[in-house]
Amino acid sequence: MEVDLDKKLSVVSSEPGVYLMKNARGKIIYIGKAGNLKKRIGSYFSNQAQLDIKTKTLVSKISTFETIITRTEKEALILESNLIKRHKPRYNVILKDDKRYPCLRLDINSLYPNLTIVREIKKNGSVYFGPFASSHAVRETLKIINKTFKLRKCKTKEFKKRLRPCLNFQIKACLAPCCFDVDKNAYNKIVKEVTMFLNGRTSELIYKIKNEMILAAKAQAFEQAAVLRDRLFAIEKTLEKQVVVTTDFKDRDVLAIAGSPEYYLITLLFIRRGCLLGVRHYSFSETMSDNAEMIRTFITQYYERTPFIPKEILVPIPLNDVSLLEDWLYILKGKKVDVLHPQRGEKARLLNMALQNAQDRLKEQIDSNASNMDLLKRLGKRLKMERAPLRIECFDNSNISGKEPVAGMVVFERGKPKRSSYRKYRIKTVPKQDDYAYMAEVLKRRYGKGNKAKPYPDIVMVDGGKGQMNIAVSVIKELKLDSYFEVIGIAKKDEKRGEKEDKIYKPGRVNPINFGREGDLLLFLQRIRDEAHRFAITFHRKRRTRTFMKSVLDTIPSVGKKRKAILLKHFKSIKKIRAATIEELSALPGISHDVARAVKLVLAG
Ligand code: SF4
Repeated sequence: MEVDLDKKLSVVSSEPGVYLMKNARGKIIYIGKAGNLKKRIGSYFSNQAQLDIKTKTLVSKISTFETIITRTEKEALILESNLIKRHKPRYNVILKDDKRYPCLRLDINSLYPNLTIVREIKKNGSVYFGPFASSHAVRETLKIINKTFKLRKCKTKEFKKRLRPCLNFQIKACLAPCCFDVDKNAYNKIVKEVTMFLNGRTSELIYKIKNEMILAAKAQAFEQAAVLRDRLFAIEKTLEKQVVVTTDFKDRDVLAIAGSPEYYLITLLFIRRGCLLGVRHYSFSETMSDNAEMIRTFITQYYERTPFIPKEILVPIPLNDVSLLEDWLYILKGKKVDVLHPQRGEKARLLNMALQNAQDRLKEQIDSNASNMDLLKRLGKRLKMERAPLRIECFDNSNISGKEPVAGMVVFERGKPKRSSYRKYRIKTVPKQDDYAYMAEVLKRRYGKGNKAKPYPDIVMVDGGKGQMNIAVSVIKELKLDSYFEVIGIAKKDEKRGEKEDKIYKPGRVNPINFGREGDLLLFLQRIRDEAHRFAITFHRKRRTRTFMKSVLDTIPSVGKKRKAILLKHFKSIKKIRAATIEELSALPGISHDVARAVKLVLAG
């Protein structure tokens, strides 16, 4: 294979372009771009002694490569970015879709725009603000805006259908353009102020509101002046929470990279108007890129999907392709963007701050991964398994006297909960209460789908002790999967019998496993069981509440399917419907005064 590579190398062009590395099965495992293809590809194979062990191992997986020549390096950069997106090669830096961070969308196409939280940017004329550092941060900001500005709060679908204003109008938080002929200019003024607030132009906004307040007071419009004063306080309060990190009050992003042989972390600090707004970490494992390439591919992927590109991006290492990147960012933003690697002064201090954050987070992750692996290895040994249980799936049932029976499955991978793989089950085939039959049905549904059931866990744990475990073992045997994973059962301690701790059962053993001094292993399994219990019970409660809510409302003659849906959608619970006044109920579309009275009457009784 090497001869083949040498031969191939000898005919590679020295032009700019993109190279695609493939493994023995012809799969693309890495894509890169180069100003000189021959030189770049040659560097992987000729200077093997200079490569670190990790890169050497990865290079050994290359069986062949392909090149695509481009006219310029800029074209190569764009092509590289598109090909990485399409092929998602294993050893490239790939920003996953779930790394989309929340933004606020201002729907300026609407006559009366509103703000909504979104994770996807669409080119539909809306204005986007963000990304925010977390869902919590975006929700908090929206809460402040909703309290401070009289922008409409309802979704466009609801807005179009409203016949009466909602509570927001009554509490003076909205002008109710849904029902009244609100002056477009007055509403636009609010939109403008919200935009200023979200763009960080808060000092201008404060100045503007202060002036309006003084004018209102002079005109003896005291109510109006008080509203403006409250708005001013609310804005000033949010400003108090922000940390000023630069004196030039500019918008900039600051990048840092920290790495260990197993994985790397890219950290991004968001600085807006000189204030540190947040920090995000992105981790990557096994890449063939060097640090400069990682930063470059991160920038091309990240800024393509983010709504806001600052004027300045500080990078932790000098990049060869700065002008290419700046050109590419110019196309995206429509304005000049500087990519800088400062060596001294305030900006270098920001790079240090980002690096410190990256290193701290990396250390935390390495520590937690290392201790998780140690625990899993010990657990595997204690359960006499041939391998460490990297994936554990745990099942629990939930029902009250057989009503609305459900089950939940939680997944722990490498010792941590993997929530995206959790599953909920509504029991379908068991007519009367039978916990064993519930478990059998759920296990068959989870593992009886052939290849679609993969990945298999290393351990299946069922809550309920020996009985449940034996059911699980027989189902797994029936499905001919008993050689794939271990089954264990976990049972609560029986305090009346003097038992001091929960019990872990394994097939073929009469007595529970004694963990001796390794109590942390039992605690770990209990934690998984508790999570399965919490997950199943939450699902069960939701189903019961929904059924209960439906059944109470069903008893009111004037409340049909449609009205029931309107009430439940708005108030979310019977408790809240019961607490609502007749006025609040009848403010909903389709709920007349008489219907509201009937609802109150039935729920009061
Ligand atoms: S008052 Fe009307 S426009 Fe304002 S939030 Fe309520 S439904 Fe929407």
